[in-house]
Amino acid sequence: MKFIAVTGGVLSGLGKGITASSIGLLLKQCGYKVSAIKIDPYLNCDAGTMNPFQHGEVFVLEDGGEVDLDLGNYERFLDINMYSDHNITTGKVYKSVIEKERRGDYLGNTVQIIPHITNEIREQILQVAKNSKADIIIIELGGTVGDIESMPFLEAVRQLRMGLAPSDMIFVHTTLVLTMGVVGEQKTKPTQHSVKALMGLGIKPDIIVCRSDEKLNRATKEKIALFCDVPEEAIISAHDVSNVYLVPLLLNDQKVITTISKLLKLKKGKPNLRTWRRFVNKLTSREGEVNIALVGKYTGLKDSYISHIRALDHAGTELGVNINILWMDSEDLEQGRKLKKMRNTDGIIIPGGFGHRGSEGKILAAKLARENKIPFLGICFGFQLAVIEFCRNVLNLKNANSAELNSSTPYPVIDLLPEQKGIKDLGGTMRLGAQYVRIEKGTKAYNLYKETVVYERHRHRFEVNPEYIHQIENAGMKFSGKSKDNIKMEIAELKNHPYYVASQFHPEFKSRPTNPAPLYRGLIAAAIAHMNKSKKK
Ligand code: GLN
Repeated sequence: MKFIAVTGGVLSGLGKGITASSIGLLLKQCGYKVSAIKIDPYLNCDAGTMNPFQHGEVFVLEDGGEVDLDLGNYERFLDINMYSDHNITTGKVYKSVIEKERRGDYLGNTVQIIPHITNEIREQILQVAKNSKADIIIIELGGTVGDIESMPFLEAVRQLRMGLAPSDMIFVHTTLVLTMGVVGEQKTKPTQHSVKALMGLGIKPDIIVCRSDEKLNRATKEKIALFCDVPEEAIISAHDVSNVYLVPLLLNDQKVITTISKLLKLKKGKPNLRTWRRFVNKLTSREGEVNIALVGKYTGLKDSYISHIRALDHAGTELGVNINILWMDSEDLEQGRKLKKMRNTDGIIIPGGFGHRGSEGKILAAKLARENKIPFLGICFGFQLAVIEFCRNVLNLKNANSAELNSSTPYPVIDLLPEQKGIKDLGGTMRLGAQYVRIEKGTKAYNLYKETVVYERHRHRFEVNPEYIHQIENAGMKFSGKSKDNIKMEIAELKNHPYYVASQFHPEFKSRPTNPAPLYRGLIAAAIAHMNKSKKK
């Protein structure tokens, strides 16, 4: 088994995850089984309790792991499923070490960062690697070299390499090259400093991937090679491209696989990128665009909705149309702003969410979509709010609400799942991960999935209150997807509407570049029809 550790220098948000996933894809296309581990040096045990505004979206895995959004990149690029233990955090490591200490496993010893924490990190990495049965494991170290909190992880991967043959593990360091002033000179000093910081920890990078706005010029590559003691062919330009899915091709053009193969003594040769190129060609040759309004309260940080952005893009690529997302702050809608803009969109999507703030704006968006026959997709919280809107305005249940948002509502049409009652801890306790969904034939959902049983990923505490199901269905909202026991409502749709579909689950997490999530495909197909109809008017 071979390891590729990917570190980051200079600053965060360099697209380290995209670089790592792209390398993974190229290796996979050479014929290797590739898997990945993401290390996050924060003290939370997982991303589940974190505000998306701080760390972007919480990605949900098949096994219910609530993890860093980079695991979504790996799943999409590598077309694999990952598991909770593929995301190692400081919290998980310390929790395990402290539990071992309490059990008496270290009896007699002073428990220390080195060797106990670093050993634990190494063991967790090796365990995941073993379970994955992969030929190559990519270990992405979150954070920036130099941060106090990443130190134990860097030390652990340094030790990991020490125990291996030199051709079994390499280090890829991602940095930033800034272009300064009118002369447009590419500045390498931050890269030099971050490599120095890394070398101070005993790690010498084998490959340096430089993020920059323009392609790195020859002189810049030569300079970095000289000052950082890395061969010129191992300095890779990761300049801005129009879409992340172009990055694997960008890296491949610079023969990154030849360099990696030499270092790791890999024999399989060149990646077969025929399918990927076909996908990228489709992606870049789309014509026209549909406007999709995404209504949320974290619209200030696009990473909060990254899987939606990708899922929309996958569907748009398959259907040959560009997607223009109109970011709608739900609180703006509440105050009566941007409503006209909403009426002119070709589609509306309400993603998952929590809490009262902005929820009335989302309910307004659901009403607007229903009444104006604008294609609509509600996800999780969006599904629950669509049900509330329907109950308030079609069933005339005044002030109907979710018990999450108003505990004294006269009509709690969305209520706590029975298994959630009495749960006190917030971390990892929702209804999570892939769950059985039965889809009824003859419905819009069935036409899209073409299956009667699917497994989709969940993350919620509340559900449609069973007491209201009959009433809601009688008034024309059909629950076309249900749980195995028929008690939990999973998909809702309206008959007399071109596309008004909502799901309790999150289809965006399973959308893959060449296999878009069905409910997104449905939304975009309807949005195209809506756009063409409006043009004719
Ligand atoms: N807040 C809602 C619940 O807990 C919806 C959750 C979500 O959208 N992920 O059920």
